[in-house]
Formats: sequence, C-alpha cells, structure tokens
Amino acid sequence: MAANDQQGSDATCEVAIIGAGPSGLAAAAVLREHGVGVTVIDEQPRAGGQILRQPPKSFSVAHWLPAKLYDRVKAALHAVSEQPHIDWRFQSTVLGIMRPSPYRRSGGGAHELWIQGPAGCYLLRANAVLLAPGCYERPLAFPGWTLPGVMGAGAIQGFVKSQQFVPGNRFVLAGSHPLQLVVADQLLTAGAHVAAVVFTQRRQQAWRMLRHPFVALRHHRQLLETSRILRRLRRADVPVVFGHTIVRADGANAVENATIAEINPSGVTDRHKTQVFECDRIGVCHGFLASSELARQAGADMHWKDHAGGWVARHDDWLESSIRNLFVAGEITSVDGADAALEKGRIAAVGILRSLGRIDDNRARNLAAVARKRLSRLQDFAAVLQQLAQPPANLALQAMSDDTILCRCESIKLGELQRALADNEHILSADAAKLLTRVGMGLCQGRLCGDNVARVIAETRGLQPNEVGPFQAQAPVKPVPLAALVRGRCG
Ligand SMILES: Cc1cc2nc3c(=O)[nH]c(=O)nc-3n(C[C@H](O)[C@H](O)[C@H](O)COP(=O)(O)OP(=O)(O)OC[C@H]3O[C@@H](n4cnc5c(N)ncnc54)[C@H](O)[C@@H]3O)c2cc1C
Repeated sequence: MAANDQQGSDATCEVAIIGAGPSGLAAAAVLREHGVGVTVIDEQPRAGGQILRQPPKSFSVAHWLPAKLYDRVKAALHAVSEQPHIDWRFQSTVLGIMRPSPYRRSGGGAHELWIQGPAGCYLLRANAVLLAPGCYERPLAFPGWTLPGVMGAGAIQGFVKSQQFVPGNRFVLAGSHPLQLVVADQLLTAGAHVAAVVFTQRRQQAWRMLRHPFVALRHHRQLLETSRILRRLRRADVPVVFGHTIVRADGANAVENATIAEINPSGVTDRHKTQVFECDRIGVCHGFLASSELARQAGADMHWKDHAGGWVARHDDWLESSIRNLFVAGEITSVDGADAALEKGRIAAVGILRSLGRIDDNRARNLAAVARKRLSRLQDFAAVLQQLAQPPANLALQAMSDDTILCRCESIKLGELQRALADNEHILSADAAKLLTRVGMGLCQGRLCGDNVARVIAETRGLQPNEVGPFQAQAPVKPVPLAALVRGRCG
C-alpha cells in the first residue's frame, strides 16, 4: 500500500486487523501465508500488544522479557516482523467502524474504518475486519483512588517490563487477580521494595482451587511458577495478605500509605480490622474488562461474562461476530490470556479465509484443528483462573464512601449518583444515569467508571450488572484532537 495512505488519505485493503497484540499478530501471519493483503492498525508505536509492550525503537533494552511465559508471543511477533508485505499503521487509532455509504460509487469494501493517523483522519475500506483490541484493567473506585501514585498493577508492570523503569520506590499491590504476584516478582527483580501484596480471596479458598486435581495435573507448570514466586516473596520478607481489600489511599499530594481491611467470611468488609502500609505506589489488580467499545459502536451483539471481561462480543465457531465479515479475536471474546489470544487469532484468520472464499469448509476445518484443540485446553485453565480471581460480588459499592469520586473525568461522586437514583426510580440503566448525572460523559467515555456505575445501579436496584447494560458507544470512540479532524476526513 502506498506510503501516503499513512499521511491521511482514504484507502482500501483486503483485510484490516485492529490491534497488533497476540491475536492480531497470529491472524496476520496466517492471512499472509495465504497471500491475503493485510493492513494492521494499532494505537501503539510498535507491535506486541499489552503482553509485550515493546519499548520504543529509540530505546534498546538489554534482556528484554527473558521469562519463558513471553516466548510464544515473542515467536508470533518475530514471525510477522519478518513479513515484508504487511501494511503496518502504528500510532493510529480506529475511531469507528461504519458500513460504507450506499451513495458512494467507488472504493467498495464491506466495512469502513474511521482512523486517526499521525497526519490526520482518513477512511480505510476493507472487505473483512478483524477486531482484536484486547482488554484493560478493571478499575475499582475507593477513597483516595484519584491520588497520584494509585495505578493499575498492569500499568506498573508496563513500565517495568517494557522499559525496565521502576515507577516508584515502595509498592503495595492489592486486588483479586494472580497477575499481581507476577508484578510483585518483576518489581523485586528490578530492585524495588514491595511493602505488601493483598488478595481479597481467603488463603484456603485459593489453595482449594489450585489443588483441584484437574489444575494440578494439567497445569502443573503454572502452579510451579506460582509457588516459585511465593517462595521468592517470602525470602524477600514481602507480606502476602489474604482475605483483605484496599479501603483507602492517603497522602498530602500523592500516595503516602494504603489502608487495607479484612473481608469477613460472608464477603463484607470489616472497617474495624485494618492495617496500614507506607508506600508511594499502589497497584490495583481486580482483573480485566474487554475493550468492547468498537464492537458496541459497530452494533455487534454483545453478551455479559462477569470476571471474563464484562461485555464481550458474541461470535460463531469461526469468530465472526453478528455482523457479516466483522471478526473478533483475543480478549474481546472473553479474557482468557495471551496464549489463548494467539489461538483465537489463528482461528479467526481461517474464518476470514473461508468467508472470503479463499478456502473451502473442509480445508478450513483442517487448518483450524490444532488451534481449536489448544484453545480448548487453555480456556479450561482460564475458567479456573477467572473463578479464582473473582472479587466479592459487591466490592465496588463496599469500597466507596459517599464522597468518593466515581467518574473522574466529570468529577461525579458516588453520593451524587445515589441521590439521583433515590430521586428517580426510572434510572435503571447506565445510559439513564449518564443523561441525568453526566457519569461516563467525559474523555474516557466511561471506560474507567462504566463497570463501577453499572455495579452500583445493579446493587441499588436489585438487578444484575448485565441488566443495567454498558454505556452506548458512539464514534469517535476515543478522544480526537480538533486539529486532526480539521486536517483530515471527518468520516
Ligand atoms: C495492563 C495489562 C497488563 C497485562 N499483563 C499481562 C501479563 O503479564 N501476562 C499475561 O498473560 N497477560 C497479560 N495481560 C492480558 C493480555 O493483555 C492478554 O492476554 C493479551 O495481550 C491479549 O492479546 P490481544 O491480542 O487480545 O490484545 P492486546 O495484546 O491487548 O492487543 C490489542 C491491541 O489493540 C490496540 N487497540 C485497541 N483499541 C484500538 C483502537 N481503537 N485503535 C487502534 N488500536 C487499538 C492496542 O493498542 C493493543 O496494542 C495484560 C493486560 C493488560 C491490560
């Protein structure tokens, strides 16, 4: 594809892949092996997605991600980096997925992507689109969570693993997801001080699940790795506290300490049983939410998978969404981890080849067989992890007080939402709450507050979070500078 397409002029391609993480990379490799023209679009400056977080080209990082758990994704990255015929579009954000206008005569393509590239906005038409935008950390709002120094544990990890930079001195990690053990280990290796790792789960509950014969037999490698990390933390005198949750962060201008409280056996936080840890960084880690905004904006059918990504895209066996030739892969289908994302990318690519008429059903079945087998095994383990990583049901509401900021873009406090709910019995959905209170109206478009808002409404009204629904997603799904709109096509 011509270089000036990157500069902001409209273009067409055979298959557009949104996201250069494991699933996008694996799909690109399969499609190129079959001679299909592929354009890969990603907001980041380099390929690899969240798991690899490749350092910028101007950095050279010695011993980049030496741990074995990154090997398969690194191999996928290596396989496509060697491919000369992929059209890479980095630092480019897809703002919306549209059907091409029936009135436009030229261009063709089943879908039209509205893209903000380095030189402005433009449209890219594609016969098929693979949506592989990954996930982000599930935020928990609690008193003090907006203080500088409170971060996602994965964000802390991003600095350490990608740039070998330790963003603080003394860390507390708190949440329900085992990723925080990996982050604690990486921080120790990088020379940081870890003041505590805090799990909402009770110790017995965690061990009961991990000792399940199915896990012990089929996933002993992961279990050994977990035991190794726990041993290292013990040797470094890092307290690993179970059955507790973070209840506040305090500090004059930035975090100075974290207060945790015990969760009693019925899942209720006991604010009389607290411990305080001095720290200048808190990494919060309650699992992940699928980056579902583009799928929702495009009008694809979604379904709710609590603790496996929240709102995820519905799809058929070939990972085609409810919209023809819009395929989905990776965490947007269910947060199952990086190795599963690779296999989903491969299956979706075979699905695209089949849908474009490049291969027949038989060939498709044969091509996808190995990936399907691996995926099924990986998803069995992911299901155990998802159950293990599940925080207590109403943690969001328990963690906040009346004056906790719930929507940080619009500075809306929990008390304001609760008063609106008390005053208006018709607020039953996240969108209704947005209209009346402005929660979710700001720059992040509800990515940070949406899950907490839905859980608060659900808890107050006696509903399930899926009955409350997500915020309506509109294009542009991410903020666009006015200058980019002025320079390029507005869609
Ligand atoms: C902070 C964080 C840390 C994590 N750490 C680990 C870990 O250590 N180990 C592990 O197994 N798993 C980790 N995960 C989970 C991990 O993301 C996945 O298992 C794996 O990377 C998923 O692959 P994917 O292809 O689905 O998505 P990703 O790897 O997330 O790739 C998606 C890509 O899509 C791009 N994108 C999204 N939206 C748009 C858009 N609108 N326009 C253009 N580009 C877009 C993103 O920039 C990203 O590069 C982490 C997740 C997060 C959020």
